[in-house]
Amino acid sequence: MACGLTDADWIAWLAERGEPKFRAKQILDWIFKKRVSNFESMSNLSPELREALTDQFTLAPLTHVRLNGSTDTTRKFLFRLEDDGRLIETVLIPASRALYGGRSDRLTLCVSSQVGCAFDCKFCASGLAGFTRNLTAGEIVSQVLMAEAETGERVNNLVFMGMGEPLANLNNLTQAIQILNAEWGVTLGARQMTVSTSGLAPMIEKLSDIPIQIRLAISLHGATDDVRSQIMPVNERYNLQRLFEALNIWNEKKKQKITFEYILIKGVNDGLDQAKALTHRALGLGAKVNLIPYNTVDGLEWERPTEDVQEKFLDVLVNAGVQATLRREKGHDIDAACGQLRLREETAEGIIEVAPV
Ligand code: SAH
Repeated sequence: MACGLTDADWIAWLAERGEPKFRAKQILDWIFKKRVSNFESMSNLSPELREALTDQFTLAPLTHVRLNGSTDTTRKFLFRLEDDGRLIETVLIPASRALYGGRSDRLTLCVSSQVGCAFDCKFCASGLAGFTRNLTAGEIVSQVLMAEAETGERVNNLVFMGMGEPLANLNNLTQAIQILNAEWGVTLGARQMTVSTSGLAPMIEKLSDIPIQIRLAISLHGATDDVRSQIMPVNERYNLQRLFEALNIWNEKKKQKITFEYILIKGVNDGLDQAKALTHRALGLGAKVNLIPYNTVDGLEWERPTEDVQEKFLDVLVNAGVQATLRREKGHDIDAACGQLRLREETAEGIIEVAPV
């Protein structure tokens, strides 16, 4: 997959063929700057080299299957993967204000990192059909290229909040981030990229070592172990103490504030005791909090609390000096809101789940 290779990868590939180093820059230019759709168009390369590229690589590993619009202009792409025909979803959100600390009025793209998800958060649609496989770096980068090609606009904010757990796919994730960030690549600012995780503590520590100033969001959803473990099985593996050890390490290495994602679920984590515990944790770490009223998922019984309860929860945080926002979700009407991406395909007969292998 051509868009999943770095400049160093190209230089190595070219060296094997006795081609000079500078060809790497030429190839990268065609892929990321000129965005050609076939290797034949790479007119400054020899016919032999173009043929070798055509034989060994694909330029577009994703096929656009469908685009769903939304009344608030959130758009959901459905892409088919080339090797096994499975589907992934990518969501384009025209943000009206800064959600993760980037500048406001940005075009945010929410990308998937895996097909399905293995972490089984009880409230989330993505894990309902289980886990199939990691996306390659090329498939991650390609979501950005495809969305830009389809809309004719440049994405200027990227969140790894689509389907899957990005930190369970760490190697491909870091390769993709490098390509997205690079001058020879997509040139997306490091601060314009946010990785969201359910809390894989050791992987957070590993990710903190990459020399790119990306942002980190933690899907917290519970401020005490008993509440969090109820809805996020991953908390049994890495409890809050272990998670916060990793977050402290992140804070030492990175300059950006961490964001806590906190979905408000009626009767589960929306009590004032949780608001207080969350306040304590956010202040201790200097983290920001994004409160998100739960988006209902077909087949799951969870509900969002009333607006009154949401506001009261927010007040506890804000009054204690926490930088917190209550997010009004976009894309609810097209199932493109957070946590609503799942493996399924609409057919004439209705929506069918696409079962994992
Ligand atoms: N696995 C990663 C990234 C994907 S989920 C993570 O856990 O962070 C992106 C965000 O959507 C997470 O914060 C997740 O907890 C949240 N989410 C999942 N289901 C949701 C729902 N039904 N309503 C609102 N947010 C949800």
